[in-house]
Amino acid sequence: MKNIAILAGDGIGPEIMAQGLKVLDKAQELFQLDFAYHPYVIGGAAIDEKGTPLPEETLAGCRTSDAILLAAIGGPKWDDAPERPEQGLLALRKALALYANIRPITVSRHTAHLSPLKEAIVVGSDFVVVRELTGGIYFGEPRELIDSQAVDTCVYRAEEIRRIMRKAFSIARTRRKKVTSVDKSNVLATSKLWRRIAEEVALEFPDVTLEHQLVDSAAMVLITKPTVFDVIVTENMFGDILSDEASVIPGSLGLLPSASHSEDGPSLYEPIHGSAPDIAGQDIANPLSMIYSITMMLRQSFSLHEAADCIEAACDSVMAQGIITKDLGGTAATSQFTEAVIQQMTLKR
Ligand code: ATP
Ligand code: MG
Repeated sequence: MKNIAILAGDGIGPEIMAQGLKVLDKAQELFQLDFAYHPYVIGGAAIDEKGTPLPEETLAGCRTSDAILLAAIGGPKWDDAPERPEQGLLALRKALALYANIRPITVSRHTAHLSPLKEAIVVGSDFVVVRELTGGIYFGEPRELIDSQAVDTCVYRAEEIRRIMRKAFSIARTRRKKVTSVDKSNVLATSKLWRRIAEEVALEFPDVTLEHQLVDSAAMVLITKPTVFDVIVTENMFGDILSDEASVIPGSLGLLPSASHSEDGPSLYEPIHGSAPDIAGQDIANPLSMIYSITMMLRQSFSLHEAADCIEAACDSVMAQGIITKDLGGTAATSQFTEAVIQQMTLKR
């Protein structure tokens, strides 16, 4: 039996988690899986219930789980709370040393016409952003704002770069075997080190091609020719910016999942979007970001590729039938969409 920590969180979190777990229940039935769900509070819900965004029981439950599913955290309700709900997730990432954030961006041919970009440009886009999550300018010291001068510090140690590079190359090995390392090595010292370590790690993966790209140019190519990418590996801040940019390619935040990995502990899977308080409680959120987070978990934590294939094929068929949620211009309710996916799963099995 495998234990999954379930962190439904806030806003649309509980709704999309419930839908995602319905899909996982169906996969359990069709493929004789044995997952036990262990729900814990985090974020705003945890502030309300326990007075802190990451209660002890939640952290302990996550530590002893085989994988963690998280939906979304935060919302205006906690604007004046002494601690931010988001601190719960940052503390959890830090405590579990989740340094590698993996964000796949794929465009289904059934939804390519819904992208705000030209269909001809986005169709066939299928790449992964591997973002370093625990280093760089978001964590470097000193950081200070004194009167009219402010300082942030970008620090990377070779070891931090090496482990995220190895992660990116390992992922590329399972795909089209190309890594694009994104940096700003014409200006930044950390980027010069980044590039040097990328070259070193490339020697360990002779079957994978390494390309370097400056971040400004990468930002442009991402929108003009997204199909050229396979695996993009980059530091924390560049990854933050580029992956939000990349979310425009398929057309909705509601389509995009992510995984965060540590060296040896449980991985965490979550949609890339926030708690979407503007649409919470209306049964209109797109549950795909959560469903795809679950298929990432099935593949990456449990190597259950058949079950993941079945779920993804079912989602694709549902979209091909024109059943889509409001964020993509459709009229299907969250629950209706999930129901259609569950029906298709039986046919795909
Ligand atoms: P955060 O600061 O937590 O990242 P945010 O301000 O970026 O939050 P999100 O919650 O990510 O906001 O939502 C941004 C927009 O995308 C909102 O208008 C929201 O309704 C929409 N959105 C996000 N997730 C979904 C989803 N699963 N389905 C439909 N629309 C969504
Ligand atoms: Mg956001």
